[in-house]
Amino acid sequence: MTHDKMKEDQLAKQDLDHLWHAMHKYNPDAPPMIAAHGQGAWFTDTEGNEYMDGVSGLWCLNLGHGQTEITEAAKKQMDTLAYFPLTFSHQPAIELATKLSELLGGGYRTFFSNGGSDANETAFKIARQYHKQTGNPDKYKFISRYRAYHGTTMGAMSATAQAQRRVKYDPGVPGFMHVPPPYAYRSTFENPEKDDEMAANFLEQIIIWEGEDTVAGFIMEPYISGGGVIKPQSDHYLKRVREICDKYNVLLIIDEVVSGLGRTGQLFGYMHADGVQPDMVTMAKGLTSGYLPLGATSIKNEIYEAFKNDSGDHHFRHVSTYGGHPAACAVALKNIEILERENIVGRVARLEQKILTQLKELEYNPYVGEVRDIGFLYGIELVRDKTTKEPVSDAYLGSILGACKERGLILGKNGDTVPQLANVLIIAPPLTSTEDDLQFLVDTVKEVLNSSQ
Ligand code: PLP
Repeated sequence: MTHDKMKEDQLAKQDLDHLWHAMHKYNPDAPPMIAAHGQGAWFTDTEGNEYMDGVSGLWCLNLGHGQTEITEAAKKQMDTLAYFPLTFSHQPAIELATKLSELLGGGYRTFFSNGGSDANETAFKIARQYHKQTGNPDKYKFISRYRAYHGTTMGAMSATAQAQRRVKYDPGVPGFMHVPPPYAYRSTFENPEKDDEMAANFLEQIIIWEGEDTVAGFIMEPYISGGGVIKPQSDHYLKRVREICDKYNVLLIIDEVVSGLGRTGQLFGYMHADGVQPDMVTMAKGLTSGYLPLGATSIKNEIYEAFKNDSGDHHFRHVSTYGGHPAACAVALKNIEILERENIVGRVARLEQKILTQLKELEYNPYVGEVRDIGFLYGIELVRDKTTKEPVSDAYLGSILGACKERGLILGKNGDTVPQLANVLIIAPPLTSTEDDLQFLVDTVKEVLNSSQ
């Protein structure tokens, strides 16, 4: 046995004995793939196999591996000031908060945390405190959409309306309720043409039924439900949601954890709808392209006004040791600099259609119900029968993922699925994938789906 092979086997054994994986079902016969190094959209495992990462890690590696400008920015910052808490201040956090306000159109202030769940928890606490300090102490409820994913901690999990992700951890935090998402392919309202409109009307109805004086905020991902089933919605929906939130003094929290910083072909997903300004925007993942952990909750300055008072007892009693770590902020600044300099957002918008046109050809396949996309986020909804829309089994979806992996392509699926609801193949390549990479991805998906009929 070679030294490398021994080292590899030892790592695999230690992995099985000591590491608890996210979402992974323990299987001693199939230890998880161990990544060794990466470049661009590709990584190599410890056995030397090469794979294209068609889901950007967990939808976060937006600029791909090997961005040495980013790693140098992190080193430089750590060499200069290794750590400092944001109970005081430091330059990278100040510069990043200023940059984010500019990118959001001005008038925002940012609270930094460590990731997406954390950014959403922060938003919920700010919303509740805001209403208490503006004469609406009974406003504590949050509404989110069924099938949404907003994170893993108790509050974020409570906004996550996917029963199978919650069943072993419920009850969650009191005061979270859900409304149907727009999802024309499987319209809750049995009227695909008016699905968006009816979904928005449902939101208004729930606010009225729950009591407008009790609802603090509505949280949604713009245009998609990433951890759900990738279902784009119309501009009209977001505009109606904004109107409804204004009408009932409900804060609109836009979760841009996946969609933010270019993924959808706009800088932020909500910007696809002209004129909509969220009250809060939460970010993580693409903010640093996954190079270091960072979460951000950007809040309109008007909301922050409620946290100022002369005696100082209106301040936000919330602190995160590592939130806004100087190195993470430096990485985010460099990440944004590259995004702007290379016009990555424009690139996504330009290439999106080319990929979609090719993937759409799969709709002739008897198992492909619908191909949907927004930017570099594609969902292929797989069905056993196009008329009844009965979803394929989880095992079938797993076999498709396995066949893609055998050909050197890693793809995702919509979470831990409830097969009777929907089964969707998820594609979210790094935004910097070369055109050859993207062609490889499209060809592989088509070959696998067409040979699995
Ligand atoms: N919000 C959305 C839309 C997400 O997709 C995720 C993670 O996938 C989160 C929040 C949670 O982010 P994190 O895993 O960084 O806590």
